[in-house]
This record gives sequence, C-alpha cells and structure tokens, in this order.
Amino acid sequence: MQIEDHYALLLGVKTPWEISSVDLNMAGNRVDIEIEYTDTTGVCPECGAACSKHDDRERRTWRHLDTMQFSTYLHAQLPRIKCPCHGVKTVTAPWATKNSRFTLLFESFAIRVIQASRSIEEARKLLKLNWHQVEAIKRRAVERGLARRDSMAIEYLGIDEKQFRSGHRYITNLVDLKQGRVLDVVEDRKEDACKALLLQALTKEQREEVTAVALDMWKAYANAVKTILPQAMIVHDRFHISQHLNQAVDQVRRAENKQLASEGDTRLKGTKHFWLYNNENVKESCSDQFDRLKGSNLKVARAWALKEHFRPFWDYRSKGWAKRYFERWYSWGIRSRLEPVKKVARMLKAHEEGLLNYFDHRISNAVAEGLNSRIQTVKSNARGYRSFEGFRTSILFYCGKLDMLP
Ligand SMILES: [Zn+2]
Repeated sequence: MQIEDHYALLLGVKTPWEISSVDLNMAGNRVDIEIEYTDTTGVCPECGAACSKHDDRERRTWRHLDTMQFSTYLHAQLPRIKCPCHGVKTVTAPWATKNSRFTLLFESFAIRVIQASRSIEEARKLLKLNWHQVEAIKRRAVERGLARRDSMAIEYLGIDEKQFRSGHRYITNLVDLKQGRVLDVVEDRKEDACKALLLQALTKEQREEVTAVALDMWKAYANAVKTILPQAMIVHDRFHISQHLNQAVDQVRRAENKQLASEGDTRLKGTKHFWLYNNENVKESCSDQFDRLKGSNLKVARAWALKEHFRPFWDYRSKGWAKRYFERWYSWGIRSRLEPVKKVARMLKAHEEGLLNYFDHRISNAVAEGLNSRIQTVKSNARGYRSFEGFRTSILFYCGKLDMLP
C-alpha cells in the first residue's frame, strides 16, 4: 500500500476526491497532504443537484489530527459548480464544515479537549491553537448544539441573575431545572430582557407547557413570567429567601456590634460567621461561646432565632399548615422591633402566594446555583470576557448540555 492510499483510508477521502501527494517533512515534524477533485461535475450544496463544474477556488488548508507527533495539514482547491437554480456555489469538502479551517475529526477532538481541560489556556497548549481559534471552535460547537436542541416539554424553569464582570452589570440565566442545564442567558436583568430570554430560548409549544418557575422575589422577573408564561406558577426560591434572612441578621449584628464597641463591649467582635451558619454547623470549639451569645438578650440573638425559626416552614407537607406556620412567624417577625428583619417579613408577606406555591411544586434554584458556580469557573478561566457574546458562548458550551460534535 502506498502512503497516499494509507492516508486516503485514514481520512476517509473517497472519489471524486483523491490524495495526489503526501509530503512527509521529518525535520519539521509535519505532514502535508494534497487532495484533488477529479470529477467534471459536482453536487450543489444548496439543493443536492448534480451540476457541471465551473472553476476552482484558491488553495486552502485545514488542520487535521496529528499523526504520531506530526502536525497534519490537508490542502485542496475546492471546486465551484454552476447550479441552474442557485448559481455558482462552492462544493462542500467532506472532511470539514463550511468556513472551518479544521477537519471534522480535529474539531471533534478539540471540543472534547476543551471540555475536559481546566482552563482555556491548558486546552490551547494541548491543541497548539491560539485563543481565537479555540473561541471559534466553541462558537461553532454551540451553534450546532443550539440548532440540534429538541423542543421537548420543559416542566420546571429557574430564572436567576448573575453578576457579569465587576460593577453592576448583570446577566439573566434561564435554567431547565430537571435536566440541570442552562437554556440561554441574556444581558441585563430587566423585565424586557427576561421576556426576550423566554421568547428566544423556548418554542411557542414549550412556553405553553411550562408548569412552574423558580425565581427570587424580583419584580421584573415575575412580571416577565406572568406575561410570557401566563399559565406557569411562580415559586419563590427558598435559597434566595434564606439569603435575605441571613442578610437581615448580619445587618442587625453589624449595627449592634458598632453600638456595643462604642461602649467598650466586644462580645460580638469576630462573630459574623456564627450567625450565618445553621445551628448544627457551628464548630464544636466555638459552640460554648455561641451558646452564651444565643442565650443572651442581644438583638442579634433574636434576629438569629427568627431566621432559624423560618427553616421548619419548608418541611411542611400540607400547604394549609405551612400557611398557618408562616402567619405565626410573620406576626412574630413584624413585632420584633428589628428593622432589617421586619423588612424581610414584609417582603415575604407581599409574596406569600409564591412562597406557598412551593408546596405544590417543590422546586428551587439550587440546581441553578450549582450551575452558577460553574459559570463562575467559566468567568475566572476566561479572565473576563470582553464581550457578552463570548461569555454566553462559554456558558452554553460548558453548562448547556448540548450535542455539539460535528
Ligand atoms: Zn442548487
């Protein structure tokens, strides 16, 4: 077998394509393979009709998987045909997708390497590619994945905000909660952005089939859901609610610590994290100190007790009993004389329906929060995307569970 035949087999090059030469450059560690088109007719890429050949395009190069340690390149002039319906068109090469400078095999391999690498930098070095080439492979992979995504019903959605770059720029993240995948993201967290996101990520049928959506008590998102998914139940996310309660406890502690310190009382110094833990998670070595503080008549101890007493709410089996429990908690909270706690209590009261909807559909953005930490990794890996589009591509590439191979 000649080396040309060997490579023809390896690359799957078939008539009318033919390998005309294989140039093995031992010193340069590379193989250059010339491919020729040997037919006078060709298939129109638009309609598949057999047409006569018109001319050849300029010679182009594709990078293929390395053979042993040799970098391997294909070179060919793609012929153009003249279709009666579509005019002069370039014939598609069987080894690459349109506009890609890599063969299909190389691109598949690269996608797997990028997915498995801890950073773009690592993937880039392994593949011997530059940053732009890696980004282009990711972009094409995501485009393929989005085009292939099926329109199966999605029962539960999560909508969530995420800070994008430093400062006050946000993205809104739409998650399929059951499958734990990001469906799409948009810039901003306003009502219109959220509406656009729901419209672009879901087909009309999918929008009609959504049962419930988990979200924070953020009005813009609730409004968008009510407009675009009128049948869907809004479930306020329990993890956001515990965040609000934690923040209230922290505000009470900060104010009280300041006041005590001015009187020379340092009891609350360095206790920030105690109050944020759940009771059972406080370290053994600190538990005596914490027990004394909890049992004191400090304001922060009361705020903390209110936060802790909210937790059993989530364990109720019946909506009716949960409602009664909430009413009792609310009247305690509102009479607590702790302004930050009262504020959260009022907010929860105003969102009582969405709070209690949890007992019909026990969904939360916990999945989305897990994905958020992956998005965080994407962010730190890329050292800040210059553009939102590059950021979106990366999120979908790593967190979209897309079928991306060529
Ligand atoms: Zn045609």
